[in-house]
Amino acid sequence: MGDKMKAVVKKDPAFGAELVEMEVPEVGPEQVLIRVKSTSICGTDYHIYIWNEWARKNINLPQIMGHEVAGEVVRVGERVKKVKVGDYVSSETHIPCGMCYQCLTGNQHICKSMKILGVHTDGVFADYALLEEVDVWPNDPLIPPAYASVQEPLGNAIDTIRAGDVSGKNILITGAGPVGLLAVGVARIFGATKIIVSEPNGYRREIAKEMGADLIVNPLKEDLEYIVKNLTSGKGVDFVAEMSGNQSALKQGLKLLTPGGRMALLGIPDQEVTLNLTGDVIFKGIKLIGITGREMFRTWYIAGRLIKEKRLDLDPVITHHFSLEDFARGMELMKSGDCGKIVLYP
Ligand SMILES: [Zn+2]
Ligand SMILES: [Zn+2]
Repeated sequence: MGDKMKAVVKKDPAFGAELVEMEVPEVGPEQVLIRVKSTSICGTDYHIYIWNEWARKNINLPQIMGHEVAGEVVRVGERVKKVKVGDYVSSETHIPCGMCYQCLTGNQHICKSMKILGVHTDGVFADYALLEEVDVWPNDPLIPPAYASVQEPLGNAIDTIRAGDVSGKNILITGAGPVGLLAVGVARIFGATKIIVSEPNGYRREIAKEMGADLIVNPLKEDLEYIVKNLTSGKGVDFVAEMSGNQSALKQGLKLLTPGGRMALLGIPDQEVTLNLTGDVIFKGIKLIGITGREMFRTWYIAGRLIKEKRLDLDPVITHHFSLEDFARGMELMKSGDCGKIVLYP
């Protein structure tokens, strides 16, 4: 193409990232080039930005950051059939091989040779971005770009809440970061009876209320165990969505589950966790379910419908709108925790 674009690039193995001018990339035969309309910051991007231990082990530099996106198709590879120039799209971020046991048995999101957009490949914090045809998701034109970009983490929330089969149940969500907050809204729509949220950050507790939580607890100041027992007549909750990765939240969640209950784990602990498997899992008949990514593409259909039919209000969760140049401001907010989803516009 020969044109130039701006991109947020992680260049050096250290804290931070740079806004760089570079060539617009060429499309491969099964790729799609989009002009980015909006992109949003994920916890993964923050970890790459601050260059934590996980990032050091997994990221090859230099690399364009970002993976949550909405944009317009401006060029398609010669073999692409799914979309055409001018289409309004988002993208799944798990890039499956399409050939392994998992891919061929309906589990593309846990493909054995998985690559992830913006983790193993150049991402979308840029004027233009390359997407794989297999991941491109045509959006309804009525969905605003900010919402379209947030469909990807919304898919995580949908997958987590689906794992709990929450209709008519009392549930506990530990951790109200952006995905936890989206999970509150999804659980409300999916018919959970009582939704209890445990979250230390006051800013996020306020949003949890707007998203439909019945009771919001600060676990550092209040007795979560007492409150849950009280609210469930001593039974405990039927389902816990663990969204924080915090060890004590995970352990407390297990204790608060009623025997026969389920726990879905989306939060990522930063080290090995020791559990009382005998007392808290085995003898209680608890089901533990790991959640990674989103079921492809069931969660995208659900997310698209919920947004288009205005069943789920994303506005309380989308707390900041910045220009792409201000990405560092967004990362600062991520550090403080006083934010929900931050959307960036090139
Ligand atoms: Zn994400
Ligand atoms: Zn595969």
